[in-house]
Amino acid sequence: MGGGRDKTGVAIYRRVNGVYIRRDGKLINHHTKYSVINLSRPVRPKRGDYADLEEYDQAKELYKKQLDSYNKEFDRAVQKALGYKRFNSKEEIENWAKKQDVIITPDTLNKIDNRAFNEISTALDEMFTRFPEAKNFSFEDEDGTLFQAQYHISANDDPSFLFSAMGGLEISTKNYSNFEDGLRDDFSQMTTGFTIKGDGTLSTTIRHEYGHRVDSYIQAKILDKYHYNVLDWHKNFSSLNEWKNAQKKAMSELKAYEKDLISLAKLQGSSEYSNTCPAELFAEGFAEYTSGGRTEFGRKFGQFLERWY
Ligand SMILES: [Zn+2]
Repeated sequence: MGGGRDKTGVAIYRRVNGVYIRRDGKLINHHTKYSVINLSRPVRPKRGDYADLEEYDQAKELYKKQLDSYNKEFDRAVQKALGYKRFNSKEEIENWAKKQDVIITPDTLNKIDNRAFNEISTALDEMFTRFPEAKNFSFEDEDGTLFQAQYHISANDDPSFLFSAMGGLEISTKNYSNFEDGLRDDFSQMTTGFTIKGDGTLSTTIRHEYGHRVDSYIQAKILDKYHYNVLDWHKNFSSLNEWKNAQKKAMSELKAYEKDLISLAKLQGSSEYSNTCPAELFAEGFAEYTSGGRTEFGRKFGQFLERWY
């Protein structure tokens, strides 16, 4: 913990786990100024919502103006985000990965626009600092050996996701072979309300993906606690009954975890995407909370995380 004060001595930010958080709960980092946090895409008026044609025409006129201003602001945010530069070469990205004990799979740096790594790496640095246990973790496998989940970054040719969390972080080659294209898609999802905005930067999406990792870590931890994945009960239990009871406890704790998570689904600030399934609900809540989102969804998620992480 540490902090900063304004001229009158009032605290303006505090430092928690290496991350600066403003009094209003927003994160302070190098790129909050590239954010689309205050931007929402205007909604096209529907004829059926207007009694007479004149009102409808006025609404359409207003919509055009709002859309025009939205597009300008959107472009400005994209240009600013493109201006953030951390690495100057592939080698620098590889050195970062080595230092962080992260594996970038072969070909990833050839398929993905290297500019994407500027912000991806910054967001991951933050995640690894705040939630180090979920980065590289191990759990007991069926045969009793330890399974190592080491953090990988790879390229994925499946065009249906911008990013996914298989093995760590998967980046879509379709969207991110050109960083600007990927960034535009990412910002669009936030400003249309499909995904939560968090701090309105690409980092929110990277935090979302890391959320999947944290979710897996918590579930693995619960199963591990009861040696759920270990098939040979002799190894940890003195009787078959004791083993069966442990399996039951593991399942019921996992159910309690999911029930607690699902209770967050309809809170103010949740997104369309967070309501697709429990895994996305977790990732969206995690992204909102860790991005400093002060919505009810973000705040309650923080308490939920404290109970289970
Ligand atoms: Zn997800």
